[in-house]
Amino acid sequence: MTEAIKTDVLIIGAGPAGLFAVFELGLLDMKTHLVDILDKPGGQCAELYPEKPIYDIPAVPFVTGQGLVDALMAQIKPFHPEFHLNEMVETIEKIGDPLFRVTTDTGRVFEAKVVVIGAGGGSFQPKRPPIAGIEAYEGKSVFYAVRQMEKFRDKKLLIIGGGDSALDWTLNLQPIASHLTLLHRRDEFRAAPDSVNKMRALVADKEMDFVLGQVMHLEGDNGQVKAAVVKSAKGEQLSLACDAVLPFFGLTMKLGPVANWGITLEKDLIPVDTEKFETSVPGIFAIGDINTYPGKLQLILSGFHEAALMAQQAYHYVFPDKKLVFQYTTSSTSLQKKLGVS
Ligand SMILES: Cc1cc2nc3c(=O)[nH]c(=O)nc-3n(C[C@H](O)[C@H](O)[C@H](O)COP(=O)(O)OP(=O)(O)OC[C@H]3O[C@@H](n4cnc5c(N)ncnc54)[C@H](O)[C@@H]3O)c2cc1C
Repeated sequence: MTEAIKTDVLIIGAGPAGLFAVFELGLLDMKTHLVDILDKPGGQCAELYPEKPIYDIPAVPFVTGQGLVDALMAQIKPFHPEFHLNEMVETIEKIGDPLFRVTTDTGRVFEAKVVVIGAGGGSFQPKRPPIAGIEAYEGKSVFYAVRQMEKFRDKKLLIIGGGDSALDWTLNLQPIASHLTLLHRRDEFRAAPDSVNKMRALVADKEMDFVLGQVMHLEGDNGQVKAAVVKSAKGEQLSLACDAVLPFFGLTMKLGPVANWGITLEKDLIPVDTEKFETSVPGIFAIGDINTYPGKLQLILSGFHEAALMAQQAYHYVFPDKKLVFQYTTSSTSLQKKLGVS
């Protein structure tokens, strides 16, 4: 069997909640390893909306998704967390009191005194639209997320969908695209009314097109789309020339292996108490979007708060004989030493 990596705390998921947990645990001298399915830290912020602005991080009036992740990475640097990316945690086994053996799909094994599940919505995947043969274009000219807006500069874009993502990317990409068409099957949207009004104003000014209909198939070669053949709401067949297609049909949140970890679940979420954010298994905590409790808000700031309280209880498992003394970073020289600032 592969030799286990021993750590105080194993964090599953390197989204904002998992990243901030490194900071709170680090202040209390707990060593962390993180595992994430994605190829980079940051969870939804990095994967789904790196260039979109976030306005509700306390004391940060404006930051992009990626900007927030970069700031969190800088903040946790003094604690030297170890990342294991492109790996999915498959099993958690209780082998002590508490001590857990955690294995990933690459066969890596951890032994951790505490496990923190920060798995967000699980392994999230974009919903694929029902267009036959679309797989051949994925990653080449069909994209389910915008990682870099520049990639779409001077391109003919077709955005499909009627939710916030479709409308937001329509407004963000329209100024840099050579031409943009938004395609939706009906003239009703599940998006912020302000975004819908802005989109309609651009259409009225002939700055972009809005088409009611559904894609039947794509035309192109070697993964490069040239046109989308669309059946309009009036039943006509249209050919919309495009260099890239961006379907935004929402996400399928696949809970994945979390369901098999022997933890009580409630509608695919993990119920926790609001003092320690501990699951039904002592020593296993759940923070961020994956947990549920009365009044839960799936916001980044909730995950930060939950990480701070979780760390207080985790300390007692990792250092059962030590007393925990509450300290401020502004005034504690010992905390400042850990942060490398004094
Ligand atoms: C378009 C959009 C805009 C948003 N805007 C805001 C906003 O303005 N303000 C705000 O507060 N919130 C916003 N949110 C919500 C916010 O992004 C989430 O609340 C936040 O990302 C949750 O953080 P998390 O760390 O709990 O989970 P996530 O960010 O979902 O990260 C969880 C991570 O766990 C990993 N994972 C899951 N299962 C496993 C496994 N078995 N093994 C290994 N890794 C695993 C996933 O790959 C993922 O990287 C927005 C969300 C979206 C989609």
